[in-house]
Amino acid sequence: MIVEVIVDVSAYPIDRPFDYIVPEELETLVERGSRVHVPFGNRKVQGFITDVKEQTDLDISKLKEIHSIIDVEPVVTEELLQLSKWLTNKTLCYEIDALQVMLPAALRASYKKNIKLIDPSALDEAFLALFYKKEVISYDVIEKSGLLRQMKKYLIDGSVHLETVIKQQAKAKTILKYHVTADKEFILEQLKSLTKQAVKQKELIEWLLDQEQTSFTMNELMDLAKANNSSVKALVDKNILEKRNAEIYREITTLDHQEKDQRFQLTDEQISALTNINHSQNHAENTTFLLHGITGSGKTEIYLNAIENSILKGKQAIMLVPEISLTPQMTRRFKLRFGDQVAVMHSGLSIGEKYDEWRKIWRGEVKVVVGARSAIFAPFKDLGVIILDEEHESTYKQEDNPRYHARDVAIWRSEFHKCPVILGSATPSLESYARASKGVYSLLKLKMRAKEQALPTVNVVDMRAELKNGNRSMFSVDLADAVREKLEKKEQIVLFLNKRGFSSFVLCRDCGTVVECKQCDISLTYHRAGEQLKCHYCGHEEPVPSKCPECESEHIRFFGTGTQKVEEEIAKLFPFARVLRMDVDTTKTKGSHERILKQFGDGDADILLGTQMIAKGLDFPNITLVGVLNADTTLHLADFRAAEKTFQLMTQVSGRAGRHDKEGQVYIQTYTPEHYAIELSKSQLYEPFYQKEMLVRKQYGYPPFYYLTLVQVTHENVMVASEYAKLATNWLRVNLSSETLVIGPTACAISKIQNRYRYQCLIKYKKEPLLIEKLQQLIKIYRTEWMKKGIILTIDLDPSTIL
Ligand code: ADP
Ligand code: ZN
Ligand code: ZN
Repeated sequence: MIVEVIVDVSAYPIDRPFDYIVPEELETLVERGSRVHVPFGNRKVQGFITDVKEQTDLDISKLKEIHSIIDVEPVVTEELLQLSKWLTNKTLCYEIDALQVMLPAALRASYKKNIKLIDPSALDEAFLALFYKKEVISYDVIEKSGLLRQMKKYLIDGSVHLETVIKQQAKAKTILKYHVTADKEFILEQLKSLTKQAVKQKELIEWLLDQEQTSFTMNELMDLAKANNSSVKALVDKNILEKRNAEIYREITTLDHQEKDQRFQLTDEQISALTNINHSQNHAENTTFLLHGITGSGKTEIYLNAIENSILKGKQAIMLVPEISLTPQMTRRFKLRFGDQVAVMHSGLSIGEKYDEWRKIWRGEVKVVVGARSAIFAPFKDLGVIILDEEHESTYKQEDNPRYHARDVAIWRSEFHKCPVILGSATPSLESYARASKGVYSLLKLKMRAKEQALPTVNVVDMRAELKNGNRSMFSVDLADAVREKLEKKEQIVLFLNKRGFSSFVLCRDCGTVVECKQCDISLTYHRAGEQLKCHYCGHEEPVPSKCPECESEHIRFFGTGTQKVEEEIAKLFPFARVLRMDVDTTKTKGSHERILKQFGDGDADILLGTQMIAKGLDFPNITLVGVLNADTTLHLADFRAAEKTFQLMTQVSGRAGRHDKEGQVYIQTYTPEHYAIELSKSQLYEPFYQKEMLVRKQYGYPPFYYLTLVQVTHENVMVASEYAKLATNWLRVNLSSETLVIGPTACAISKIQNRYRYQCLIKYKKEPLLIEKLQQLIKIYRTEWMKKGIILTIDLDPSTIL
C-alpha cells in the first residue's frame, strides 16, 4: 500500500505530495486526512495523507516507509482535503499551510494521546493486559506493543476511547501545577529502573510517594521536596507527573439566569428576506445572499431564524463574526436561542478548550459554531447555512499564509454543501454590493429599524471653524455642550477616537487639505527622515510643504493623538464624569473587553472612550450620544479604501446611539466636512455613497473595476530589498500580458518592519488569464534562488489593505 503525503516542509521549492510505502502493520490504520511521521531527507517530519493507493508510478525500491501514525482517525475531512487544494491554488501558498490552517491550534502544538478502557469484555488478552490495573494508558504504550491494529478496531466498536491531553504552554498569568497522575505501582517500577546517577529524581519520587496531596506548584516542589527543574521535568517525561494549567478559563458567554431568549413577531421586511433564504435552504441551492440592512434592522434575528431552519433539517450552521471577543452580546443571543447546540470559538478560550469545541463539531455534538475567521473551517459534515456578519470587515481576510478571505471559503463550501451563504452588513463592501447589483449575489434589503426607532441625528462639526474661533481643544463647542447635557440627564456617552494602526499624513488645520498623489488619489505618507511625503502606490515623492498648498496657512502638520491625551482633556473639561477607557492598553488581559463593556452596561460609567474596538456590537439602551473626535484619520489613510472605511466606520459608530427607546445624537468632528464619505454618513444612506465611490474607483482604476495583486519583497539590507523588488517587478512586466499594469517597485507605506526593509509592486488587471501560472513561476524562482539570499517575497491576491 502506498500513501501520498504532503510533508510539513515549507521552504522547499517543490510543493507536491510524496509517495511513501505503508508497512503492513499500519495498513488498516492509514486514512486520507490523517497525519503521519515520515522520513524526509535525513529528518523525520510531519505530513498529511492526501491519498491512499495500491500503486505508484515511481520506482518502488526507492520509496521510503512511513515512520509512524499521528492520528488514528482523520483530522481533515474529505471536503476539507479538496478545499485545501483549492486554497493552495487560490492563495498561492504551500499546500501544507492550507492544511494546517484548518486544524485547531492544539493539534499544531504538542499534545499527548491516551487510550481509555470503556468495555473490557470484547478485548483480546494481549490488548487487555496493557491495561493491567489501569483504566487509561498512553498511546505510546500501545504503539510500542505493536497492537495498533487492534486498537483501531476497538476504537471503532467503542471498547476503548481516545483522549487527547493538551500540554499547555505555561503562560505568565496562569499557575502551573504538577499532578501525580500515575498509580503507585507504576511509580515504584519507575523508581526501580532509575540509574544510580539519578539521585535527585529518586529523592523526589520517594517524597511524592509520602504525600497525600497530589498536585504541587514548582515552588512547592522546590521548597518542600528540594527538587530542581530537571528532576521535575524528568518525572514529567516519565509520565509520573503531569503538567497542568491551574487557571480556570471563564467562559465569556456565561448566561445570566434572569436572561431569556426573546422571540419577536418578525417585521414584513424580515419575513420577506427570510422567505428567500428558506427557499434556498429547502431547495438545496447555493445562493449567496447579500443582506443589506441598516443598523438595528434585525439582521441578527434573521440569522437566528435561518440557523433554526437548518437545525430542523438536521443540518449544521457556521456563524462568523469579525472579532468574537468584541461581540459578547451577540454570542449570548446565540447561546440563549440554541443552548448546548452552540460551540463558541472565542479568543478567551485556552487552546485546549478550543480543541474541545472543535471535537464537538467533529463528532456532530453541536449544530452551530459561532466564531471568528478560522471557524469557517469547522469540520461540519452537512452544512445548512453559512453566515458572515459585518461582511465588509477586513478581519475576514487573513494577513498571513494562507492569505484567504473567509467569504471566498464560505462560498466554496456552500457550493460543496448546496446551501446558502448570507453576507450581512449595514455597509457592504463595494465588491459585494457590485456583485449583488449585477445579480451574482442575491440582494435582500432591510430599510427599517426593527423596533421602528428613528436613526440618530448626525451632526458634522467643522473643526477648521473651531480653530478660527480660537478653540484649540479636541472637543468642539457643540460636542462639549452635548456631553454636558447628557451627563446632567444621566445618560451615557460613547466617545470614539479614530486610530488606525498606521496612518501618518500631514493636514492643514485651517482648510483641511491633505496632500495627495495626483495620479493615485491616495494621501501621501509622511516620512520623518528627510521630511518627505511619498506615494507608496506609484513612488512619487515630494518634500513636506512649509505652507498649505491651498490656503498658505502654516498650520500644516503631522496629524495624530492618543486616547490617554483625550482622557486627560476629558478630566479637565468634565471633572465629574466617570470615564472608562477601552483601547489596546486597557484590554491586554483576557476577558477585559467583556469586563469594561459590562461595567458600562451596568451604568458604572458615564463615558466610554475608545478606539475602533468600540465601534462594533455595543447595544445599550442608555447610550444617547456618540462623538467621533477625529473622522479624518481613516479618511486619509493611504489606501484606496479610505473613503469606504470611513463611511463604514461612521455608520457603525452612529448605530451605537439611540438603539432603544431614547433618541440618539451623533457628532462627527472633521477638518474635511465636505468630503462625500462624511457628508453622506449624515443621512446614513448607503446607496448614494456607493454610487459616488464607484465613480472614483472607476476613474482611478481600483476594485471592483480592476483586480489588484500585491507583491512585497523584504530584506534586512535596504539595497538588497530594493534590488530584488526591481527584479520581481521587471520579471512580472515581461511575463504578464501587456494590458496588465505592473506598478512599482516602491517603498511600502510602512517602509521597515522588524528591521526588514519593505518594497512592493502592484499588479492591476481586468483580465489576466496567465496570472496564477506566472505568479507560481515567480514563486519558484524565489524559492529556489532568492530565498537563500534572505529575501522574503509575499504575494497577496485581492489585498485588503496596501500598507
Ligand atoms: P442588527 O443585527 O441588524 O443590528 P438586531 O437583530 O440586533 O439588528 O436587532 C436590533 C434590535 O431589535 C435588537 O434589540 C433586537 O432584539 C430587536 N428586534 C429584532 N427583530 C425584531 C422584531 N421583529 N420585533 C421587535 N424587535 C426586534
Ligand atoms: Zn490649508
Ligand atoms: Zn501615486
